[in-house]
Amino acid sequence: DASPVAGRSNEQFWKSANDKLIGFGGGWMPVRIVKAKGTVLYDEKGNRLLDWTSGQMSSLLGHGHPEIVETVTKYVTNLDHLFSPMVSDPVLDLAERLTAMLPPGLDKCLFLSTGSETNEAALKMAKMYTGGFEIVSLSASYHGMTHGAGAATFTVGRKGYGPQVPGNFTLPVPYAYRSPFRHPDGSYDWKTELDYGWDLIDRQSTGSLAACLVEPIVSTGGIIPLPDGYLTALKEHCRQRGMLLIMDEAQTGMARTGDMFGFEHEGVVPDILTLSKTLGCGLPLGATITSNEIESVVRKRGFFYLTTHLNDPLVCAVGAKVCDIVVREDMPRQAREKGALLRAGLLRLQEKYPQYIGDVRGRGLLQGIEIISDAKTKAPGSKLGAAVADRCMELGLSCNIVSLPALSGVFRLAPPVTITPEEIEEGLQIMDRAFAECIDKL
Ligand code: PMP
Repeated sequence: DASPVAGRSNEQFWKSANDKLIGFGGGWMPVRIVKAKGTVLYDEKGNRLLDWTSGQMSSLLGHGHPEIVETVTKYVTNLDHLFSPMVSDPVLDLAERLTAMLPPGLDKCLFLSTGSETNEAALKMAKMYTGGFEIVSLSASYHGMTHGAGAATFTVGRKGYGPQVPGNFTLPVPYAYRSPFRHPDGSYDWKTELDYGWDLIDRQSTGSLAACLVEPIVSTGGIIPLPDGYLTALKEHCRQRGMLLIMDEAQTGMARTGDMFGFEHEGVVPDILTLSKTLGCGLPLGATITSNEIESVVRKRGFFYLTTHLNDPLVCAVGAKVCDIVVREDMPRQAREKGALLRAGLLRLQEKYPQYIGDVRGRGLLQGIEIISDAKTKAPGSKLGAAVADRCMELGLSCNIVSLPALSGVFRLAPPVTITPEEIEEGLQIMDRAFAECIDKL
C-alpha cells in the first residue's frame, strides 16, 4: 500500500532530484521512500527499512501515530492557520501543557516552526535582556542554519558567506573519549578544560557577553553527553559574567533521553529553553520558552519576533497532543527502559568488535557509537563507519553516521520512543551482520 509515486520510473526520479532540487551540501541518500509507518520506512518496491533516526530525530512517537493523524486531520479541516497576531485555543493548550511540565522560571512560550528559528529568537532575547551581544557555544555545536544560530554552530556551514555575526566564541566540547585534558592516572579533567576555555573567551571578549548556548547532550556533534556537574559549572560561569544560559533541546527534549527534558538530568534550569524536532513529532513546530522576568524586560524594550507561522493552531494542536501522549504513556520511562536494551546490545557489539567500536555513549534513546580503526591509537574509523552505515541501509536499517570534518565515524542512533524491543533486537542484528561483513572486507 505505497503512496502514489507519480508514475515516475526510478531513473526519472533520480534525474528529477538532480535537475530540480538545490543540493544541501551532502549527497542524496540512495533510497526512494514512499511510505513511513511507526518505526518502519518502505521503499518503492515495498522493502522495509527500520528508521533508527526518527526521520530527522523528530518522529518521537513513530511515523503516522494515529492520534497525531487524527489531530492533523481535525485541524487542517477546521482551524489550519491564522494571521500571526490571532491567538487560538490550541496555542494556549500547548503553552499550558508545556509550562505545567516545566519548572518555574520557564513560564512563557513563543511558538515557531524550526530549531534554527527558536535559537534565533532565544539569542535575540538574550542580547536584548543583557545588553551584550557575544555568544558562547561548544566546539562541536549545531544550532541551526540561519545567521545567528549558524554563527553559534561550529561544526558546519561557516565558510563562504562573508563575515559571521560578530562576537561568537567557542568552548572546547567536553569530549571524554578524546580530550587531552587528563591527569596522569588517565582521569578526564573537564573542570580544568572548562576553566581554560573560559579563560580564552575572557581574553577575546570585548566585555559584552550575552549568552551561552548548549545542548545537554551534544547530538549532531557526535553524541557527547556533558559530564555530570558540567551544566552546574557552566551556569556559574554564566552567572559570574552576567550571561544567560540557553539550552537547545531540539533532539533531547520530550522524553528522548529518559528524562522529560535533558536539563533535568542535572537539575540545571536554563534561562531560555528551545524545543523543536521532537515537540512537533515530525511537523514543523518549535518553542522558545523563558521566565516571566526575562519576557517582561524584553517586551518593554521592544522585542519583536513575528513569523508567518507564529503560534499556528494546526502544529500547536499537534504539540499539545504530543505532550498528552508523552505524559500519559510515561515516555521518559519507556526511553530509559528501551534505551537500556539498545545500549546493552551496543555494548555487546563493542565486546565483539573491540578493535573497531571505541566508545558507546548517550542516554535513553539517544545513543552513539564511535568507530575507530585502531584500538590503541583510537584513530577514527570513518571509512569503516561509512561502509557499515551503507550496508545497514541495504540490510534494512536506516542509521545516521555523523560525517563532520572535525569528527567522523560516530553513529547517531535515535529511534522513535515507540520502538518495540523486537525492533531493537532486529536493528542490532543488522548492525552486527553489517560490522562482520565490512570488517571482513578490510
Ligand atoms: N538545534 C539542534 C540541537 C539541532 O539538532 C538542529 C537540527 N539538526 C537544530 C537546532 C536546527 O533545527 P532546524 O533544522 O529545525 O532549523
